[in-house]
Amino acid sequence: MRKYIFVTGGVVSSLGKGLTSAAIGALLEARGLKIGLQKLDPYINVDPGTMSPYQHGEVYVTHDGAETDLDLGHYERFTNAQLTRASNYTTGQIYHSVITKERRGDYLGRTVQVVPHITDEIKAGIASAEDDVDVLIAEIGGTVGDIEGLPFLEAIRQFALDKGRDHVMFIHLTLIPFLRVSGEMKTKPTQHSVGRLREIGIQPDLILCRTEKSMQMELKDKISLFCNVQKECVVEEKDVAHSIYEVPLELHQQGLDALVCQRLGLDTREPDVSDWQELVERIKAPKGTVEIGFVGKYITLHDAYKSVYEALSHGGFDNNVKVSFRKIDPEELTRENTAARLEGVDGVLVPGGFGERGFEGKMEAIRHARESKLPFLGICLGLQAAVAEFARNVCGIADANSTEFTEDCTPVIDLMEAQKKIKELGGTMRLGAFPCRLFEGSRARELYGVGAVEERHRHRWEVNNEYRGALAEKGMLFSGLNTDLDLVEIIELQDHPYFIATQFHPEFRSKPTRAHPLFRGLIAAAYARKKA
Ligand code: GLN
Repeated sequence: MRKYIFVTGGVVSSLGKGLTSAAIGALLEARGLKIGLQKLDPYINVDPGTMSPYQHGEVYVTHDGAETDLDLGHYERFTNAQLTRASNYTTGQIYHSVITKERRGDYLGRTVQVVPHITDEIKAGIASAEDDVDVLIAEIGGTVGDIEGLPFLEAIRQFALDKGRDHVMFIHLTLIPFLRVSGEMKTKPTQHSVGRLREIGIQPDLILCRTEKSMQMELKDKISLFCNVQKECVVEEKDVAHSIYEVPLELHQQGLDALVCQRLGLDTREPDVSDWQELVERIKAPKGTVEIGFVGKYITLHDAYKSVYEALSHGGFDNNVKVSFRKIDPEELTRENTAARLEGVDGVLVPGGFGERGFEGKMEAIRHARESKLPFLGICLGLQAAVAEFARNVCGIADANSTEFTEDCTPVIDLMEAQKKIKELGGTMRLGAFPCRLFEGSRARELYGVGAVEERHRHRWEVNNEYRGALAEKGMLFSGLNTDLDLVEIIELQDHPYFIATQFHPEFRSKPTRAHPLFRGLIAAAYARKKA
């Protein structure tokens, strides 16, 4: 019988529920279990694809092309769970589907209500994510007590009733604040938050306490008594010192995975956490550092490029170096100041993006990287900027540009015929995994070590095949191609220590224990340059 863990959050948002859910998944995998992960988001947007990165951080893209919440990125970085469209549901999607059924007459004229129609739809959503796993971990977005979250909590309460309490575990993640004035840690917010859960009919089985400092036994006793949870099931999750990748080990030390298995009756082997141990050792003792110039539009919010920063760090782990970022707003870059602003960085990364703002500055950064042989990796819009820059400054096509920004140009980046017909903005890009063939003798081929890969996309515009000849003649190598659709996937320059750009988003496939080859390569090149 499949088991389910529901993770809720209390007291405040941003406690790291996504990370914690992912870490629980990692520990269960270390015990040999097959796990699934799912996020249920109470907001009304139908998908996060059209939400501003400032509001919501990056849009994470799954292999099957769903535009999802960034927490799914944590899930994939920490575990081997196969995430799909069914791994993220929002209130908007749930209502959309119920209203569509109502319009179709599926409810035969009955009154359509939150209970049972919306809650049934949520339960069906949870069931749809199961797909051959031993344990499904579902995280409920938001904080207990939010108006929007209620139907989800009601649905998981019913779900436990349907499946039987032995098969369902409720974990509540909460904050134990430390009051400096009195030098005390406080349990009252947790008591209130668990009170709200119990009002709805959910009795948590385990309370995970986010704390700054270690918790005394009395504090755990108090939470146990007031929240009606066994003492050993009040577990501490203290702030980690070096890296988020310490979280699985910390939770393991607190006995969390053993408690979960006990509660759900899962008979497993002892966990093998040696990969995580080795990783954390590496992170703690880097043999050097590199600084990457990060030239992106949303640099003020770290979450907006979450997966890219993580992938760069993974490249660092693999090379035993610590990666730091110099975040640079491309709108501030000009021909005159770019060299100075990038002075001393060991490599440059230009991430994906939408809209014209900062495009010229990105091209300046790329020009500098190209001319001064600074290692460079460009992603999506970063590739498009690299192609336009090369067309302008090497091929002499002065007005080369993307038709995303102007029609009045030489369109080296353009829409494919199929994309031109699309009017709606939501979910209509080239999304998800597409194959890419890698050419023998290219650096991309050498780094990947295989002849073909699948990588994830999220964009509309493409390199215009009409200009491939002109670009190639001046030395641009099209080292990765989608041969079915005849589209450029990877470009590189061979008379340069490391100049690669991809139309796809390699960051979505990088893991801390298995850095993505292109990020590993960038950091290796950056470190080699620094040492030279
Ligand atoms: N705006 C560009 C496009 O739609 C690039 C998108 C991206 O970088 N993700 O093609």
